[in-house]
Amino acid sequence: MPALEESIAILLDNMRITLGSEKNVELFGEQSHFYMKYNFFVLNTLKKPLFQRFLNWMLKKEEIDEYRVKDVQIRMFPFKKENGNGLVGSCNSKGKIILYPKGPEFCQGPMLRLGRENAKYYVKSRARAALIHELLHLKYEHDEEKVRELTRKYFNIYAKHQGTRSPEERRIASMILNGDIHRSNKSSTNEGNET
Ligand SMILES: [Zn+2]
Repeated sequence: MPALEESIAILLDNMRITLGSEKNVELFGEQSHFYMKYNFFVLNTLKKPLFQRFLNWMLKKEEIDEYRVKDVQIRMFPFKKENGNGLVGSCNSKGKIILYPKGPEFCQGPMLRLGRENAKYYVKSRARAALIHELLHLKYEHDEEKVRELTRKYFNIYAKHQGTRSPEERRIASMILNGDIHRSNKSSTNEGNET
């Protein structure tokens, strides 16, 4: 039986911030400061031991072999699809998971509306939900319905574990789980327009 600490270590060691295509630097370079802050915040959030332990519990419960998770990357810059929607995350059959940030426009619109603390909760929740979602895809592959249902289930279990949430936090979580993270095709998490 692989030790719990061992599987935690695998996820921890693998997770890092990557640049992706060189073109991104040209496209988004001026906003590097925003993305640095955003992504280090996400990395810290996902590396929290409590969350790592939770992920390992989830992988065990779902009987997903932790060694299937080969690579977890946090992309420095966002990925916009042709329809203009941003991608939240993606995974492939080789166990490579990529998570993407929101753009600086987030600071101007939603973040101002939500207020600083709620905006932080939003960013944390979005990242956690995305990682949970993509890990589940390793097992359920193209069964998006199942993955979405389980993402909601596990996200809520973790949230409960963390303690009471304010009504605003509940609203943010359901916004993320119902709207933001949805999928059109292939194994990727899409993000709809937020209005
Ligand atoms: Zn999906």
